[in-house]
Amino acid sequence: MGKKPSYEVLEQRVKALEKEAATRIAAENALRKSEERYRALFENNPIETIIVDHEARITGYNLAKKLSGDRLPITGDIMYRDYAAKHLHDLYSELMECIRTGEPREFPDQNYADRYLYIKISPYSAGAIITSIDMTRQKRLEERLRRLSYLDDLTGIGNRRYFEENFEREWKRAARSKTPLSLIMCDIDFFKAFNDTNGHLLGDESLKKVAVTLKTSLKRPGDIVARYGGEEFIELLPDTDSAEAHAIAEKQRMSVQQLRISHVQSTICNHLTISMGVASAIPSSKVSLTDLLSDCDRALYRAKQKGRNCTHVGVMIAHSYHPLKACS
Ligand code: GH3
Ligand code: MG
Ligand code: MG
Repeated sequence: MGKKPSYEVLEQRVKALEKEAATRIAAENALRKSEERYRALFENNPIETIIVDHEARITGYNLAKKLSGDRLPITGDIMYRDYAAKHLHDLYSELMECIRTGEPREFPDQNYADRYLYIKISPYSAGAIITSIDMTRQKRLEERLRRLSYLDDLTGIGNRRYFEENFEREWKRAARSKTPLSLIMCDIDFFKAFNDTNGHLLGDESLKKVAVTLKTSLKRPGDIVARYGGEEFIELLPDTDSAEAHAIAEKQRMSVQQLRISHVQSTICNHLTISMGVASAIPSSKVSLTDLLSDCDRALYRAKQKGRNCTHVGVMIAHSYHPLKACS
């Protein structure tokens, strides 16, 4: 039989046990507080967040996700795997790859049910964390800004940049399809004198009327008209040959004259008139987009030389200048 522990020894053991218990309780309290802190951070984080385990099974999501208006994720479901939208379904393999390799993934431009999301998948020890930032408002604003940057302030039709971007795209398209592309350049006759006599305000009003007349006469969805600068406009007519473009230009020229905007300073007509240059081409290795533009510019110059209020067709397809209809 061993010696019974003395009262002092027992008291020391009790104290040691009490100390150990106090340390454990303090550690548990600290852990609980830390957990509460991170839960509060997670819940109140304005970025939608979903947590998944190693099998991509949803284990939780935060308040922002609940407020997103989307269908709520179901805890226990496999994230992305059963989504109908293909691009979201594709994220499943990205998510699994992230969990497997520990490499984060970012998808800045995900389109989901009318929303644009910036989705980030980040690995962590128990699986992965998926965050999505709603970029819809920024996207819409960007789109509005982009549209505005293509508009001419005064007339409300497209501006030169709008024309240039469309021209490049249509040129490539016409090259692929081997179809003709036409340009019409339009310049108001004696517009300086018109302004000098009638003032800039009436000048501006007349510019708007000419812009609307040109625009409303273009019927095909692919046709565009833009203000090229000052009192000059340019039109882009895909899949249109020079004869068709010439007919359109002549119709527009007559429509502008029929606006019957009084122009007493004009030496050719009592009303405001326009001169038109037409050029057409089927894009090939022999002809560039700049060639077509220069040809159209030369055709307009010829129309002015011929006396204004007329249309002149350039050489690209015709291979020789064809003086058309005399000025009326
Ligand atoms: P032409 O028949 O040879 O084209 O003669 P023009 O007088 O029309 O040509 P010119 O290049 O000498 O003058 C163009 C005029 O267009 C000068 C300018 O007063 C006028 N103009 C250009 N932009 C605007 C604008 O935004 N508003 C107004 N009111 N006038 C403009
Ligand atoms: Mg001009
Ligand atoms: Mg002019």
